[in-house]
Amino acid sequence: METCLLQILVTHIFVKNVIKNNIQTGGERKMKNKEVEQDHQKHIESLKKYAKENGFEMPEGSEYKIVAVGYLAWGEPFEKGEVSINFLNKLHILWGEGITLGSMGHHECEFCIDEGNYENRGKSSSEKELTDRENKIKYIFPEMIFHYITKHNFKPSNEFVEFVMRN
Ligand SMILES: [Zn+2]
Repeated sequence: METCLLQILVTHIFVKNVIKNNIQTGGERKMKNKEVEQDHQKHIESLKKYAKENGFEMPEGSEYKIVAVGYLAWGEPFEKGEVSINFLNKLHILWGEGITLGSMGHHECEFCIDEGNYENRGKSSSEKELTDRENKIKYIFPEMIFHYITKHNFKPSNEFVEFVMRN
């Protein structure tokens, strides 16, 4: 049973990366929050179908709502404001504990580039998943969220901030 579950997860990550790499070829196009959520939801649906056809149990939380945080793209408005040092510290700790998702490939900060700060532009290539069991939410956020918060004044939703501070 454990082997079966592992196989499902490996398939899940593999398919996800293939699709993401395809999306990215030919222009480093960044995915936005809604697209990331839809992408994850699509994969969960295909996982469910696969699990049902093969008689496997879905892992806990697969019915949770997917909420993407901090997938910013140049030209798209985003919430700005101060966040507390406590929040940032907490997020760093959770970053070290959460589930690391398959790499979305290398990303560079479009805002830095736009500001002519190419030399010191933010770069990242990984993302995390954190589960809010109380509210049945799976949060997905990119490593770049730290850069967006500290360099571009990005303010994540109150819902996300409260979740981070509770953990
Ligand atoms: Zn930047």
